[in-house]
Amino acid sequence: MADPHNDTVFGMILRGEIPADLVYEDDLAVAFRDIAPQAEVHVLVIPRRHIRSLAHAVENDQPLLGHLLNVCAVVAAREGVADSGYRVVTNIGEDGGQSVDHLHFHVLGGRRMNWPPG
Ligand code: AMP
Repeated sequence: MADPHNDTVFGMILRGEIPADLVYEDDLAVAFRDIAPQAEVHVLVIPRRHIRSLAHAVENDQPLLGHLLNVCAVVAAREGVADSGYRVVTNIGEDGGQSVDHLHFHVLGGRRMNWPPG
């Protein structure tokens, strides 16, 4: 059951109120294409449960966090970038550059990534 109090754009996606280009879903997680892709492959992996960021996760969330990372790897393989390589990123808070307050992992691939990130 999608959280009616999730006041973020990802909450709207989870409730089906706005469309998203879904590439994966299961009982715990959903993955969809970023609306403003920064690479050929740019997918967001989110938990169905509303956790505002990694900083809001608690010890009991450990299995869910592990699952989300596994979904990132599954998505990368499906998108065909597992061999060429890719990046998984989660932005946290203001300095981290987080703009949507629902935990999400960016899966970026299809081009050479820079380091350090900006
Ligand atoms: P962050 O800045 O790390 O919080 O990432 C939020 C991401 O969500 C950005 O890359 C946005 O382009 C993306 N985004 C915002 N709204 C949507 C949407 N409706 N559908 C898909 N991606 C979105």
